[in-house]
Amino acid sequence: MFSSVSLVLRLRHTVAVSAGVFCILAGISVASIAADAASTAPANASSAPAPSWAPDAQDARKALRNDATPPAKREPSVMLPPLGPDAVGTIRRVALADGAKVVALTFDLCELDTVTTGCDMDILGFLRAEHIPATLFMGGKWMRTHSRRVLQIMTEPQFEIANHAWSHGNFALLSPAGLRAQVLWTQAQYELLREEALREARAQGRPEPVIQPVPTLFRLPYGRCSDQSLQALAKLGMQVVQWDVVAESGADNTNIEHARREAHLVASQVKPGSILLFHANLVPKGSAQLLRETVTELRRRGYNFVSVSTLLGMGVPQRTMNGYFTSPGDNKALDSKFGVDGTGRHTPFNGE
Ligand SMILES: [Zn+2]
Repeated sequence: MFSSVSLVLRLRHTVAVSAGVFCILAGISVASIAADAASTAPANASSAPAPSWAPDAQDARKALRNDATPPAKREPSVMLPPLGPDAVGTIRRVALADGAKVVALTFDLCELDTVTTGCDMDILGFLRAEHIPATLFMGGKWMRTHSRRVLQIMTEPQFEIANHAWSHGNFALLSPAGLRAQVLWTQAQYELLREEALREARAQGRPEPVIQPVPTLFRLPYGRCSDQSLQALAKLGMQVVQWDVVAESGADNTNIEHARREAHLVASQVKPGSILLFHANLVPKGSAQLLRETVTELRRRGYNFVSVSTLLGMGVPQRTMNGYFTSPGDNKALDSKFGVDGTGRHTPFNGE
């Protein structure tokens, strides 16, 4: 079944690789979970146990029950102001005037209406232990499934949380109402969790963590969009951020030798101001291994890491009016693979 959705998304030498399937489909063969001993109690911890950053059983794919109902509130309290015409489109990288060797690592956490995915604590624990800022594009439904982890992530300033639609709707296919709900339900779910994080801190006698009111960055599921959906996203105040380097190739990176080779190929495509796409929902095989090798190789080449927001502030975002993996149209075949409009459902998602 999986091979039938193979889509050529990136050509490396003569190897055709398929990446769109990562978002949801590919079977899970979780990378070796080298327990990352990153879990340390904060200095001001109260009697409540500090959450561990090591993987546990609930983080596995499909470990938690699927819930396809809407979020407890459907509209966020904070609506972002519309963006100007110059900010319409998808950002692929940032041109840096001084050519500074900085890049942004981004991780998608995708979840359809019909299934639950995982939370790759091997990745998050590694980033945290290495003090590497990262931007996490979370599906709203994924946030609810993994709310315990989102509460933990929210209080770590090195992690930037961004919007990856409620249930991975395809923004080339959704109705206007469905599109709006995919964005705003996610913003609303984020607010609910943010309020809970602040409540928890107060209840435990900790200082309230600084957590941004709502996400301002958005990533298109499947990279799919239309002129109308890009206009609608700008009206909702969301900056659309895609990537210029696809890290995972569809190959199994649990094999260390393979991961090393892949990491070199990834690093060879990176430029100052690049935005790299990874996943942290335990769908692609061996993403954590690939990440470790890629970070090692990029550091060897002199690169540093910043969040997407920081990167956007350092130069001129390079936009297109298109969404794709590596070339326009390379993701179009995904339109018919995940239900009628990308959410996995057989009936249209209209936000009802
Ligand atoms: Zn996705």
